[in-house]
Amino acid sequence: MTVYAQPGTEGAKVTFKSRYDNWIGGEWVAPVKGQYFENPSPVNGKVFTEVAQSTAEDIELALDAAHKAAPAWGATSPAERGLVLSRIADRLEENLETLAVAETWENGKPIRECLAADIPLAIDHFRYFAGAIRTQEGGISEIDGDTVAYHFHEPLGVVGQIIPWNFPLLMATWKLAPALAAGNAIVIKPAEQTPTSIMVLIELIADLLPAGVVNVVNGFGAEAGAPLASSPRISKIAFTGETTTGRLIMQYASQNLIPVTLELGGKSPNIFFADVAEQKDSFYEKALEGFAMFALNQGEVCTCPSRALIDSSIIDGFLDDAVARTKKVVQGNPLDTDTQVGAQASNDQLQKILSYLDIGRQEGAEVLTGGEQVDLGGDLSEGFYVAPTIFRGNNSMRIFQEEIFGPVVSVAEFSGFDQAMEIANDTLYGLGSGVWSRNGNTAYRAGRAIQAGRVWTNCYHQYPAHSAFGGYKNSGIGRENHKMMLDHYQQTKNLLVSY
Ligand code: NAD
Repeated sequence: MTVYAQPGTEGAKVTFKSRYDNWIGGEWVAPVKGQYFENPSPVNGKVFTEVAQSTAEDIELALDAAHKAAPAWGATSPAERGLVLSRIADRLEENLETLAVAETWENGKPIRECLAADIPLAIDHFRYFAGAIRTQEGGISEIDGDTVAYHFHEPLGVVGQIIPWNFPLLMATWKLAPALAAGNAIVIKPAEQTPTSIMVLIELIADLLPAGVVNVVNGFGAEAGAPLASSPRISKIAFTGETTTGRLIMQYASQNLIPVTLELGGKSPNIFFADVAEQKDSFYEKALEGFAMFALNQGEVCTCPSRALIDSSIIDGFLDDAVARTKKVVQGNPLDTDTQVGAQASNDQLQKILSYLDIGRQEGAEVLTGGEQVDLGGDLSEGFYVAPTIFRGNNSMRIFQEEIFGPVVSVAEFSGFDQAMEIANDTLYGLGSGVWSRNGNTAYRAGRAIQAGRVWTNCYHQYPAHSAFGGYKNSGIGRENHKMMLDHYQQTKNLLVSY
């Protein structure tokens, strides 16, 4: 067990500045209106820094810098850009603990996740796109004896990116790495709940990128996000966040006829077929582990397996074991490497989850474990903690249909394959899903029948850089990860030449 020192105390791996301006054109720039907002840590509820509260004027400054930088960056070769991305990956790796502590302090997630998953995945994203850009090929088509068509990839120019608070650094990386590799300049707006860990990252890599290629502007959605997404000076907007906000982003983009990537909400089914409980062996244990994934990252995951569907012939015994396992999950100080469940990212999010715990009870769902706020005592008593909660009910309840975004799973039973698919697809969303079966045929058929962009089969929650990720239905438009992303950040130029 290691307990990392809190920022601001002796031995801390990261030192936050007391105030963060915007990062524009390779330097810190104060917000035009001179306003800042306070940023509390969810770990102890106390304000640890203040951050630029930007408006449309700041977005314009960032767009000026991006437009100035875009032509030269776009003219670099894929090999040059790949090298820059590799160096960024190396720099992040050298500072893994600094970034992990910054992310934990800012978001409340357990440091073990940051050390083992969030930051290594972010690093791998830069490495993956450093290589992927060099594999991109153009094309030549012979039109007739005298005429040839050449296909080129060209950067879009300046792109806007808006990200949420649940994986601040990983979500930033999912957007920055492919856009940079493709040759674009970027204006990115982090979420107002988690504005600073990306600033720690920017400070670490500032010398590796030409000024103005990446600009970070902080602030609230309506004041800073909307002017960015609706600007006629961007050639694409990539957004991750709630479905309701995604609809607005698409409206803004339609005014300028620019492409959107929308990564939105989810209500993912995790389906356990009867053969899972044939034996209480390592497969069964793995399935229980997959069930418990609902509490990973405090449930603040767009693909959180928040609806567990279990065959009626095994549900009672399976739930007994699942409850016992959930009770053993270690909730505590997020800076302690033994902690498995930390704090919710903000007080607003805590209150939203608590309200859904009331809604579930009022709807008649049974609470099998959890169902309440947790006071960790001492200097963590003001932090935002909720006990992992298992509800048992049915799929028509609000707790099955609405995204809670907390460590809460709603469990229903099914009878037979067809009913499992019917319940799984009875949702507005279609992002993630899980299928657990010892029978390859059942698992394959379920994987094809579920209307979701990602189906994990006998596993859950892996995010390899080279696997396309994105939503069906109200969960979004477009994909992230995988080298197909490069096309989403480029134009195709067709040059028809007659010799
Ligand atoms: P949110 O929509 O409230 O905010 C996301 C971002 O949008 C923030 O930066 C916010 O400031 C900005 N924003 C808000 N209103 C805006 C507006 N009018 N114009 C422009 N920008 C605006 O979402 P959130 O609460 O930060 O994030 C949680 C949501 O994100 C959940 O629904 C979750 O499922 C989703 N999510 C999806 C994925 C995915 O890959 N599909 C990944 C992570 C999170």
